[in-house]
Amino acid sequence: MSDQYVKVQVEQMKSFGEDEEKEGVDTEEQVPGSSPSASVSPDHPTGTDASSTSLPCKQTGKSRSKPGREDRRHTSDVASQGSVVSSEKNLNRLGYERTLQVKGTGKILQRKSEPNGNYVTIHTSKDIEEMRREEGFKLAKKRRPVTVDTSKAKTSLEALKISIKQLKWKEFPLGRRTACDIYWHGVSFHDNENIISGQVNKFPGMIEMLRKINLSRAVRTMQELFPEEYDFYPRSWILPEEYQQFTTQIHMVKEKDATVNHTFIVKPDGGSQGDGIYLIRDPSDLKLMTGSQAKQGVVQEYIQKPLLIDKLKFDIRLYVLIKSLEPLEIYIAKEGLTRFCTEPYQEPSQKNLSHVFMHLTNYSLNVHSGNFVHSDSQSTGSKRTLSSVLYRLAAKGVDIKRVWSDIIALVIKTVIAVVPELRVYYQADIPPGKPGPTCFQILGFDILLMKNLKPVLLEVNSNPSMRIEHEQEVAPGVFEYVPSPVDEEVKVGVIRDTLRLMDPGHKKPTVPQQRAGGFEQGEEIPMEEETQEKSQDETGTLPSLCLKQVYPKYFKQFNYLRLVERIAALFIRFLGVKGNMRLGPTAFRTFIRTCKLSGSNFTMASVDILYIDITRRWSGATPDSREAGMGLQAFVEAFFYLAARRFKSLALREQVVSLLELCESQLGPQSGVEERRSLSCSRALPRTVKTQTPCLANPQLSSPAPLRRAASQDYRHQRFKPRSLRANVEN
Ligand code: ADP
Repeated sequence: MSDQYVKVQVEQMKSFGEDEEKEGVDTEEQVPGSSPSASVSPDHPTGTDASSTSLPCKQTGKSRSKPGREDRRHTSDVASQGSVVSSEKNLNRLGYERTLQVKGTGKILQRKSEPNGNYVTIHTSKDIEEMRREEGFKLAKKRRPVTVDTSKAKTSLEALKISIKQLKWKEFPLGRRTACDIYWHGVSFHDNENIISGQVNKFPGMIEMLRKINLSRAVRTMQELFPEEYDFYPRSWILPEEYQQFTTQIHMVKEKDATVNHTFIVKPDGGSQGDGIYLIRDPSDLKLMTGSQAKQGVVQEYIQKPLLIDKLKFDIRLYVLIKSLEPLEIYIAKEGLTRFCTEPYQEPSQKNLSHVFMHLTNYSLNVHSGNFVHSDSQSTGSKRTLSSVLYRLAAKGVDIKRVWSDIIALVIKTVIAVVPELRVYYQADIPPGKPGPTCFQILGFDILLMKNLKPVLLEVNSNPSMRIEHEQEVAPGVFEYVPSPVDEEVKVGVIRDTLRLMDPGHKKPTVPQQRAGGFEQGEEIPMEEETQEKSQDETGTLPSLCLKQVYPKYFKQFNYLRLVERIAALFIRFLGVKGNMRLGPTAFRTFIRTCKLSGSNFTMASVDILYIDITRRWSGATPDSREAGMGLQAFVEAFFYLAARRFKSLALREQVVSLLELCESQLGPQSGVEERRSLSCSRALPRTVKTQTPCLANPQLSSPAPLRRAASQDYRHQRFKPRSLRANVEN
């Protein structure tokens, strides 16, 4: 053993001892020199596990007294650590031995012959002890449990505890004086302040980005650029600012065809669990207040023909993990939940508009209906697993591979729509080059299948409920939380496997992994490629991962959509002082000058007017922003305007691409920005751009997106009103 090696061991010993002292590390982690000598553990379950009979002697500490699965894991783990002790144990059985004196060292080496004629070295007890210590260090190093601060986990705590236990990680329910590897927050990134290392399960700004108005805005920007690709989101108007557009449009449609009778769903911006949601058939039914009372929200095209099962409307709750923003990594849980209405569905009519148990699938509403069915089975009742529903559909001849592939596409596209603004939040809270944690987040996608099997995005929850109990009426009017097997099955899997993926011991890919021979734009995504993630559990005691990577796996297919992200990269570049989220007038001027966008027909005075006009209109639209100035959404609008001015003859998408290329060529490469080549959108160019978003169900309605753009270019809009923060969103 070299001096250097001894030194490393001492260091390790020190650090383990320190940890143990401070935090009460499991005895499994202790310096193993004091571990019991190698022998068959009397506590060990006998006869069932082959590995336990052949290699029982490395059982140490606590794990010896733990029966069953844990023991098996431990034993097989140890089995892979080496053969020294097994040789010692088998010594008598294998017979012939030789003893050798090693010249000059005074060491005695024993060798034995095996039936196959090979010699195996048998070490003296002194040697064994030394080697065991060495093995122990390696083992302890390998097994140093990942630490999780669960002090802010709130309603996810139960599922989180189970997950941590299954992984044999270490929970800190009251927080920890020293840093943890993972911080599990119940609401937002800021639940714990001053975290400077590790990983937090929330991104800064995610709550804000996924509120109904912001999500609608982000998707709408994408609809302007890629109308066909983003036709999975129902047409939405932002209230109150687009009320006029909404009414004008509906009246125009009715004038054209009096028989048309659309239904709309009105959702408050900060709402959740179906709160404040109602259906209308005429704009005059909007409960719109004015002034400071004005209700912020969206009014959305109502999907009138959903797919029904057992005559009931249902929606899908899909769990999606954003593992990292840069590079973008997205995983989808293979298993999700479906939530059923509790009153048979009928297409909306004036009579049934207020029947919430018929039209709204929210669990939190339907659980209060007398028809709600709690079931221990995953394929019956008012809450079922997604797989049970898909199997049922498959049995009816539905092409569920196509459905799944469409769902994956919807998820990736939605994430691509919100990532640009998330990046702005991220750099403000965790400036590059400064110490800070990294982030990941589980999102809850609510998806409705239309009768024609097209998936439609209803909303994305930044804090999906991870409760594994459900409310049950135990006596008339008395509700209690009781364990819910369906929730436990799905949610524990999602949390545990998220943790597995975030295990700091696992290497993170640093560059987007291009799938060899990747899928091209428009190609169908295959349903499953099971083999990919199977190897994640080294011990073999955990099931294969229930989370499937979809990005960068399908990088080639979706990368061309990441145009706004490139605009965001420019925006961030000119933000200047780290921590900013808005561009000041000088920074905007610098952007124009550096990218050489001004000239004789676009003077710096016009630039200033553009800045003032757009910024004024958008001010107040993002109440949580920390300073005055031009936010990303306003910058994107300015960018579209500049692109339209410069490349008049092109369609919007080509205009934007051309301006981006121009700006990027002026600026040259920038470190820290994901490989620009990887964000290239050259494949976006040949497509014909439609200026109207294709509608989901009502072809007569045109998208408000081009309207907004038209309006945005005459700068006569009213001011946007601030919105309130939505905190914790449950089902
Ligand atoms: P919340 O955050 O309050 O749950 P959602 O947007 O999820 O708001 O809407 C609540 C429910 O209303 C959904 O679960 C779904 O059943 C129904 N719903 C929402 N939007 C639509 C729509 N555009 N078409 C049909 N049904 C919808």
